[in-house]
Amino acid sequence: MNKLITSRRPTRLHRWIALSIALGIGLLVAAIYPYASQPLPACAPFVPIFCTAVVVTEAITSLLMWVRFRMGKSPIDAALAAAYAFSSLTCAVQLLIFPGVFAPTGLLGASKQTAVWIWVLWHGGFPTIVLLGFAAQHLASQRFLFRLKHARLLLLVALAGSVAGCVMAVRFSDWLPMLIKDGSYSLLRHSYFALYVVVACVTALAAQLAISGRMRSVLDLWLSIALLAFLADVTLTLAGSARFTLGWYGARVASVIASSALLAALLVEISMLYSRLARINEDLEEKANRDALTGLYNRGWFDAAYTRECLVARHQERPLSVLMVDVDHFKLFNDAYGHAAGDDCLRLVASALTGCLRRQGDAVSRYGGEEFVVLLPGCATATAVSIAEAMRSAVRKLDIPARSPAGRVTISLGVFTCDAGKAKSADPLQGADENLYRAKEAGRDRVVAGTRKTSARGLRARAV
Ligand code: GH3
Ligand code: MG
Ligand code: MG
Repeated sequence: MNKLITSRRPTRLHRWIALSIALGIGLLVAAIYPYASQPLPACAPFVPIFCTAVVVTEAITSLLMWVRFRMGKSPIDAALAAAYAFSSLTCAVQLLIFPGVFAPTGLLGASKQTAVWIWVLWHGGFPTIVLLGFAAQHLASQRFLFRLKHARLLLLVALAGSVAGCVMAVRFSDWLPMLIKDGSYSLLRHSYFALYVVVACVTALAAQLAISGRMRSVLDLWLSIALLAFLADVTLTLAGSARFTLGWYGARVASVIASSALLAALLVEISMLYSRLARINEDLEEKANRDALTGLYNRGWFDAAYTRECLVARHQERPLSVLMVDVDHFKLFNDAYGHAAGDDCLRLVASALTGCLRRQGDAVSRYGGEEFVVLLPGCATATAVSIAEAMRSAVRKLDIPARSPAGRVTISLGVFTCDAGKAKSADPLQGADENLYRAKEAGRDRVVAGTRKTSARGLRARAV
């Protein structure tokens, strides 16, 4: 689970941001509460905008919490997925039946009592499901194994609860106690239903603070903010006592904070995971292309790069030079000093070769054993030969003692360039290989360049 950023301990910055938002919520409630019942102009588009924002953010939060549950199997994640799904669905119904949005008295045959009953269902149900999650979390820490089927059941019960509650509020509101009269819900304020909603919210927030203590994870921190904003929503709605009062508008603002706090944390987590994944991918790709001993590009990388550069040279009609490099009498070196010293020698030779490259795009690869290959795109014969000579003298300058006729480690190099426009009829790798053998035959520690007479297979054959 600690793979997830939201499961890590919050940083100082996280704490400061969360504390500022918590203080902001506190100030909002303190400033609005005394004037909460102050009527304000009814803004018709406010309800659809607010409800749509809540429905969408909470549906996404629910989905992300479900994915999180599938990764970590934590009951609280499943409970939050269920709670946000419940909230999103209930808010969607609230939007449909709200008087004046789609029809003067709301859709689905809603009565005047419907919207306020759905509010009770919504604001009582959300903290109840969160509390169920805390209970499941507690049980799971004892000896109960919380499985996928339990999470599915919780989600199903939450959605079924929303549907059943909404059907009750829409179809059977006449059977339910009256909570709104002449546009005022002071009846609600003094009912046991409001008491339940407040107690459930306070208990959920208190339980969250008690469980997470000193905010062990980023998720704990943002869940606390969401529950605090939810409580502020309830407090201001009840204090407002009617729609389109200052308290009612303030409550909607708090509600948006409650629905988006967790989503913001999860989105930050997802974007950080993406960038971490991209970095890991780059590292893996780099490792897969590198030779473990020398750190040079490996044979696999070279084969792909050679094919690519042959194609480019052919299409763009530009030269391509290849250098084949072989350490002279390396078997003797190993026999004399051992393989560990041989490995050190190969590392030194590799870095001497790399040090002679001049341009971006030039690359040295380990071809195999004590052989290296250098790819020089767009490089003509004269430059290729001068680079080869620079490499030969760089290795000589290392002055590594060896039991060879030269008395030190030397290299032989074969150079082959296919000139611009002639790439179709040449295979520079094979040409360089043949020139390397000529260098060996001629006594080693030398560079041999030039056009070979034999086996001129086309670049086309290699490139396809
Ligand atoms: P020549 O001048 O003709 O190239 O002679 P040579 O001895 O270098 O050539 P040969 O092919 O006979 O021997 C190559 C040696 O390189 C044999 C092998 O043990 C050694 N070798 C190949 N890969 C490695 C390696 O990764 N580490 C070490 N230490 N030795 C290696
Ligand atoms: Mg060899
Ligand atoms: Mg050799």
